[in-house]
Amino acid sequence: MIIASLRDLASTDQCRTLVVKVGSALLVDQGGNPREEWLTRLVAEIASMRARGQRVVIVSSGAIALGAARLGLERGGRASLADAQAAASVGQIGLARLWDGLLAQHDLNAAQILVTLGDMEERSRYLNASSTLSRLLDCGAVPVVNENDSVATEEIRFGDNDRLAARVAQAAGADAVILLSDIDGLMDRDPADPAAQLVQAVHGVTDDIRAMATSRSASGMGSGGMASKIQAAEIAERAGIALAIINGTQDTPISSAIKNEIGTLFLPTRSDRARRSWLGGRIAAAGSLTVDEGCIAALAKGASLLAAGITKVEGTFERGELVSIVDGDGCAIAQGLTEYDAVSCAKLCGKRHDEQAEILGHAPRSAVIHRDQMVLL
Ligand code: GLU
Repeated sequence: MIIASLRDLASTDQCRTLVVKVGSALLVDQGGNPREEWLTRLVAEIASMRARGQRVVIVSSGAIALGAARLGLERGGRASLADAQAAASVGQIGLARLWDGLLAQHDLNAAQILVTLGDMEERSRYLNASSTLSRLLDCGAVPVVNENDSVATEEIRFGDNDRLAARVAQAAGADAVILLSDIDGLMDRDPADPAAQLVQAVHGVTDDIRAMATSRSASGMGSGGMASKIQAAEIAERAGIALAIINGTQDTPISSAIKNEIGTLFLPTRSDRARRSWLGGRIAAAGSLTVDEGCIAALAKGASLLAAGITKVEGTFERGELVSIVDGDGCAIAQGLTEYDAVSCAKLCGKRHDEQAEILGHAPRSAVIHRDQMVLL
């Protein structure tokens, strides 16, 4: 049974495993201290989910904000990458202690996992993280996941825990993700506009939905905002995972949102098989291939990407790396693992199959990206 309403998030049948993402602005007050009373109530909610048989993974931000306060760093530790790395290093210890202490009050074991973008992007490392999560959940522990910010670099990082939460949900085989926000959910226009209305259900993220999100983060403490929540919803919906954005500022945010059905629920649009869903959720493409209209139509029908349909090659990439396939306006329509490096792609660009052997000096592969290694977005 698939999840069709916020109430289903409380059902052990429909929602056996779920990821709860807690952002910095909810976890840490303006003075840089943990909001322990609020967290105590949230953990009580998590404990009741566990008690009714649901498996819960927490994705927790707050390391940078907590550490910055301890080290006296300006701009909440986000003035430079070096500051963020140092702050996270100090803050993560406190964060782990906090979750451990709060969960222990309910006889639950906290299990810390720190991941980098590469841990989720590289298939073997992703499978490794996935089996660790699964074993921990089988053992009854509550994994508490964060990005390993003290070693993440600017180019190779999630930067926001919203997309990380969607990726972790895939790795944990979760049915749903709950993103705790500082507003009720996605509003159909700027939340400051008095006419703004809450969007309660989204059946597939479209350009109209993306346009509703502004990347503004109300507190300035986290780095997410609504834009990264929509990106997380896109990763989740393609993987067959429901994603809810609810207001975390209440005392018992999860049960209140479920009881009053206030929040935005993004319903899954398809359920790709495990490997394909991992591929579709990958974030860091090494380059892009622009394709023509005929090629876009062929891809939509399930064809592989042929060199003849490529009009432009950008980026530096090796064979086997992730590249995005974009239309003439630069909008990503698919992504996949390329059979050729960037230099060869540029040589083959626009060429028919029978012209390729001479250019390459050897027999060409059947496609630049085989359909089994590609996911439409
Ligand atoms: N991983 C960061 C931290 O622990 C937060 C990322 C975000 O703001 O979403 O502070």
